[in-house]
Amino acid sequence: MNKKYQILKDIFGHEQFRSFQEEVVDCIINKQDVLTILPTGGGKSLCYQLPTLLMDGTTVVISPLIALMQDQIKALNDLNISAEMISSATSNDENSFTLQKLLNGELKFIYVAPERFTSNEFVAVLQRININYFVIDEAHCVSAWGHEFRAEYRNLDRLKRFFPNTAICAFTATATKKVEADIASSLNLQNPRHFRAKTVRDNLDIKVEPRIANGKTQILNFLKTHKGLCGIIYTFTRKEAESTAEFLSESGYSAKAYHAGLSNDRKNEVFNDFVYEKIDIVVATIAFGMGIDKSNIRFVIHTSLPKTLENYYQEIGRAGRDGEMSYVYMLYSKSDEVKRKIQIEEAIDNAYKQTGLDKLEFMYRYCVSNNCRHKMIAGYFEDEIEACKTLCDNCTKGEVDQVDVSVDAQKLLSAIYRSEQRFGLNHIIDILRGSKNQKLLDFGHDKLSVYNLGIDKSKNEWIAIADKLIDIQALTLGEFRALKISSLGLEILKGKEKLFIDSDKLGIASKIQEEET
Ligand code: ADP
Repeated sequence: MNKKYQILKDIFGHEQFRSFQEEVVDCIINKQDVLTILPTGGGKSLCYQLPTLLMDGTTVVISPLIALMQDQIKALNDLNISAEMISSATSNDENSFTLQKLLNGELKFIYVAPERFTSNEFVAVLQRININYFVIDEAHCVSAWGHEFRAEYRNLDRLKRFFPNTAICAFTATATKKVEADIASSLNLQNPRHFRAKTVRDNLDIKVEPRIANGKTQILNFLKTHKGLCGIIYTFTRKEAESTAEFLSESGYSAKAYHAGLSNDRKNEVFNDFVYEKIDIVVATIAFGMGIDKSNIRFVIHTSLPKTLENYYQEIGRAGRDGEMSYVYMLYSKSDEVKRKIQIEEAIDNAYKQTGLDKLEFMYRYCVSNNCRHKMIAGYFEDEIEACKTLCDNCTKGEVDQVDVSVDAQKLLSAIYRSEQRFGLNHIIDILRGSKNQKLLDFGHDKLSVYNLGIDKSKNEWIAIADKLIDIQALTLGEFRALKISSLGLEILKGKEKLFIDSDKLGIASKIQEEET
């Protein structure tokens, strides 16, 4: 038998390669640069762990998180494969010891954080050993266009400068085509082979709903219909993680909170309780996730809007890694988008602010859209698929009564038109609902004929109507999120086209409590 199949079977215990694994393994054996995009659970580790066992030297794996490295090292050691890490979590003595082993050629794998490559001393050690190839895990962190840019990853352009003849294999679960190209150029990959798996996860059933009040009733209803399953609930804040875990415990579920504010001991305890199934539910901030190798997570709930679709896709990807049917459920509200926007505006670099806002905008459009969820996710990663038909709420909800909101749409479009298409949605709703806010009065918008004409509808109903107009591109968002009317919008404004909205969307909108948006 070909040696690679033997290793696959005898050492890793798998009968056959999964999609892309064999192709990637072959490229690595042939010392080619490779960039592989495989969804979470796709089996990336095997792609870069197997080839080393057919080679003499050591493989250097660069990974962003100590917890991730620890998991991988443990898994390799369990297979009797020598692997160590050098990191800030290990003592200087331990690191010197590991470096010595490395120089003696005793290690098949060395795991390091990207910042190691700023150390000339470390680079000098690597130059003295036989390196099979470099592996860059979570390679999207290289790209500022990605969702988890890490400045330390930028140092990795040094790899090709110092080791021009050593292949680099980069892996990630999530990258748009733009991020993919950026990874290849930032790492100076030489004629890299690209592998990109389909983004669709056909064992995930996706549901997205506007959040009513604090969403707790909706979460309880979900848990009641998915009894006894284990899963993760992602919350926006640490406080919310704590209060939700407490609430679920009081309601009879075994749940614990996990977030960056807990002590390391407590975090390990919760992590282990979940992995070893002492508890069913972890209520967490995004601090929980990277590196959990638990294949039977049956659901992932988001209690609010994630920052980007990349984050969302990665988080929901933690469900059903074993291929069994799993459920993902998100609650959102317009106010989440506002909070996220503030977060983005307060953070970082101007150059990337707009990218952040655009990504957030897409995330919100995903929520309010009537299109197939799977198709939208695939489309975001520039992958064309057919509508799932059976695996998302939009495809399975069937015929929903339609409400004719043409007249309301005309009022909304008219308010936009009369205020010269220079204002965002909040201001337009203020005009329609006769607000006395100072900005509105300063612009004299209380004198417009549409002022106070929309008082019969709640703010959230107006948001739902505007969302629909944006979804069908009757409205677009201009600079500073000012609403602009398209030619289709003009037709609706003139009464030549009608606008219908799903009755459940409007119904829920009228139930949602007014929130400060
Ligand atoms: P990723 O890093 O892409 O999220 P992992 O490398 O952690 O995924 O693999 C996910 C799971 O799939 C692991 O439990 C792993 O043992 C399993 N796996 C990987 N390759 C195969 C294979 N060829 N056959 C069966 N199981 C596999």
